[in-house]
Amino acid sequence: MDKRSKKVIKETVRERIAKLLDEARSSFKTHPERSERYLRLIWKLVQKYKVRLSREQKLSFCKKCFTLWVPGKNVEISFEARNSILEYKCKKCGFKRRLKYK
Ligand SMILES: [Zn+2]
Repeated sequence: MDKRSKKVIKETVRERIAKLLDEARSSFKTHPERSERYLRLIWKLVQKYKVRLSREQKLSFCKKCFTLWVPGKNVEISFEARNSILEYKCKKCGFKRRLKYK
């Protein structure tokens, strides 16, 4: 496949991911199981097409239990000032995501 069509595919997948994330967000309160399904779908797309999620997208959900992260509700956010590390901890499964704060 040529470079151009690869680019088109990736763009389409990225759009699809953004839409799925929106849907996961809007269905989270009323249908958490549906939101989990959307998030799993996003993860499948990421792995299949090797697209990168934006930082904001990465921090929107737990990639272990596929729960949409709502700060103050099901995710604990802490900051290690010494190393400038931001840590997100999923309250449901305990998965931690650490990121360098820029
Ligand atoms: Zn989790």
